Amino acid sequence: MRVVNFNPGPAALPVSALERARDEMLDFMGTGMSVMEHSHRGKEFEAVHNEAIALLRELLGIPDSHYVMFLQGGGHLQFAMVPMNFLPAGKSADYLLTGHWAKVAYEEALNIGKANVAANTEQDKRFVRIPKASEIKLDPSAAYVHLTSNNTIYGTQFHSFPDTGKVPLVADMSSDFLWKKFDVSKFGLIYAGAQKNIGPSGVTVVVARKDLVDGGERKDVPKILRYSTHAKNNSLYNTPPTFAIYMMRNVLQWVKAQGGLDAIGKANDEKGKVLYGCMDKLASFYRAPVEKESRSYMNVVFRLPSEALEEKFVAEAKKQNMVGLKGHRMVGGIRVSTYNAVSLDNVKQLVGFMESFAKSNG
Ligand code: PMP
Repeated sequence: MRVVNFNPGPAALPVSALERARDEMLDFMGTGMSVMEHSHRGKEFEAVHNEAIALLRELLGIPDSHYVMFLQGGGHLQFAMVPMNFLPAGKSADYLLTGHWAKVAYEEALNIGKANVAANTEQDKRFVRIPKASEIKLDPSAAYVHLTSNNTIYGTQFHSFPDTGKVPLVADMSSDFLWKKFDVSKFGLIYAGAQKNIGPSGVTVVVARKDLVDGGERKDVPKILRYSTHAKNNSLYNTPPTFAIYMMRNVLQWVKAQGGLDAIGKANDEKGKVLYGCMDKLASFYRAPVEKESRSYMNVVFRLPSEALEEKFVAEAKKQNMVGLKGHRMVGGIRVSTYNAVSLDNVKQLVGFMESFAKSNG
């Protein structure tokens, strides 16, 4: 039996994407082997690979000005690759510190060059909000500005992005890529590990402006770590994670079948409304540490009156088939990850449980 899966990532995948993989596991498209057993240079895999790229372009409206790449190494490799490629000696990059992963990205940049904190919302060792535009001090001569669009651990999310003028905006969208449609043309580079909204772990989507990749890249970087290498080779320079890309293709087909990102975005708004609505109604029991305007629609965090009650909440939810609710070990509490494959019905089931739990334990 399938559970209701609120895992923070790797996370729930659409059943239709898994079913297709199951059905094709031993015999992919009548070829007598699984997709994993195909050459990455063969026409069968290449069709899957190119379909995944085309679906991403179509769903997000990615303009011709940007490359779409599939890399490995997760968000962590991007923390390093971005400054390795785009932070030359003598320049500095601006980093917006809004959570744990933003800090890790900044610290990695410092291993490579000069980086500047353009905003920092850490207070008492916690992050509970996104900075206001007026708090962000950008350096007009920065090599780029880096931000984390959704803070997976702290449950905050940018709902509008700073205007960085001519300075390229780089965003780690690992935990909210594809949560709704947005204007890709505003970004110099976007990266996202697949394991939350896009597919299984093992593949990282990178969308990058062609003129940055082809013109502005540093040359003192090993070939495998240059974006241009992967862009030039359609992400087939080295053997790509073929099964992860195949699964991503299946997930993207599901997104399209749902009605694309407009429909997905609407569903996510509705899920957030239902969940935050319950928290607001029962605010003395479900305490929200995050400021309202900064609330994440992908990772919803809250505290209960005691840690003992939080443990009981997780255990009782599990008895009702709902898993993945324990907050990150750095912050404790409860975290409900409501990525695309988590349905409105799943969220309503949880909210029903939250109401009765508060009643019997409040
Ligand atoms: N960025 C964000 C926003 C994340 O949530 C995570 C992981 N949860 C990472 C980066 C790190 O990703 P990876 O483990 O794929 O390197």
